[in-house]
Amino acid sequence: MATQASARRNTTAVRVGNVVIGGTEPIVVQSMTNTDTADIKATLAQVVELFAAGSEIVRVTVNTPEAAAAVAPLREKLDQMGIEGPLVGDFHFNGHRLLSQFPDCAQALDKYRINPGNVGKGSKRDEQFATMIEAACRYQKPVRIGVNWGSLDQQLLARMMDENAARAEAWDAEEVMREALVTSALDSARQAVELGLPRDRIVLSCKVSDVQDLIEVYRRLAQRCDFPLHVGLTEAGMGSKGIVASTAALAVILQEGIGDTIRVSLTPEPGGDRTREVTVAQEILQTMGLRSFAPLVIACPGCGRTSSTYFQELAGSIQAYLRGQMQQWRDRYPGVEDMRVAVMGCVVNGPGESRHADIGISLPGSGERPVAPVYIDGEKAVTLKGERIAEEFQAIVEQYVERRFGSAGEQAGASDHVSEIPG
Ligand code: SF4
Repeated sequence: MATQASARRNTTAVRVGNVVIGGTEPIVVQSMTNTDTADIKATLAQVVELFAAGSEIVRVTVNTPEAAAAVAPLREKLDQMGIEGPLVGDFHFNGHRLLSQFPDCAQALDKYRINPGNVGKGSKRDEQFATMIEAACRYQKPVRIGVNWGSLDQQLLARMMDENAARAEAWDAEEVMREALVTSALDSARQAVELGLPRDRIVLSCKVSDVQDLIEVYRRLAQRCDFPLHVGLTEAGMGSKGIVASTAALAVILQEGIGDTIRVSLTPEPGGDRTREVTVAQEILQTMGLRSFAPLVIACPGCGRTSSTYFQELAGSIQAYLRGQMQQWRDRYPGVEDMRVAVMGCVVNGPGESRHADIGISLPGSGERPVAPVYIDGEKAVTLKGERIAEEFQAIVEQYVERRFGSAGEQAGASDHVSEIPG
């Protein structure tokens, strides 16, 4: 039997707009804008891009009166465009004031993110936290209690450090910090419930930037509560480091059945594409077999047998084409997201890998005959040659998708496709 991730832990289902986090629902992909929310035009453009890329929830910063005033018009414009995806407001320091002073904002948002380390100091802390929870109760919104390593409640940490010093065998400082993160999230959730927020309106997160810390903290959270968990490595970093660190942490946690919604916090290159974090989150879930979003392209790394860039270009263009089609394919071709397409560089592993895929092409390596056999459902269907291999292969993929996943394919089955592919 194939190895699989552990069964998801049982969590309470929390509705966020038209999406449900937790319960038996699939793990939700979310993302966050990096525009000034007060700039409605720029924020709207990015929110639209993130939803189009497949983000199921989008969070925006609500840090100033101007940002809070922009939220309701932003929601209205999304509604006018027929985009129903939930918007979450990220609040720190002044969230209690903004939620009180901008009722349209409080109403327009689908969830509030509250950082217990950033809701106020001393005697103000509980009062300001309560104001935010009361807004959630009044507008019937869920909240994410999102603890963060970089803004951990310092009073709580100091108290726990003192308690630790009094232990016969004191923990090390790192251990106290991990425990403080978990305690901050659980204590804040308990307070929210005491203030009247129903349990099925609470999501928790405890984000840290170190992979081992994240794994340990989420294991503890999962053991001690049944709130759904939002998982992500915070400040993961740029480029391959950010992707690798996020994947390493999330893979371990998800494999253990922990995590109901994920975000991959990548630092984009200046002017870079914010939707990358959505693609990476989807690819983590899909490569782990937890969800499917778009057909997977299996491509070999290439080696001395692939002396031209042709094969890399074909793998790249097919991948971009498949992703680009998903917006229209999603409804038209149910199940197409599970399709596997192989693009291989030579005869060594090309035919074998192509046969294992739904559809695959084995390109000619250096010194091989300039022909490219195409395999469909494990059978050699056609051999391509000449200058237009890429276009012809794409056309074959399109025909296969229509035949197998279109309504005609449902009625006739996909098994009769080979004879219909033009030679
Ligand atoms: S399939 Fe061929 S080109 Fe690709 S890595 Fe293997 S030997 Fe190299």
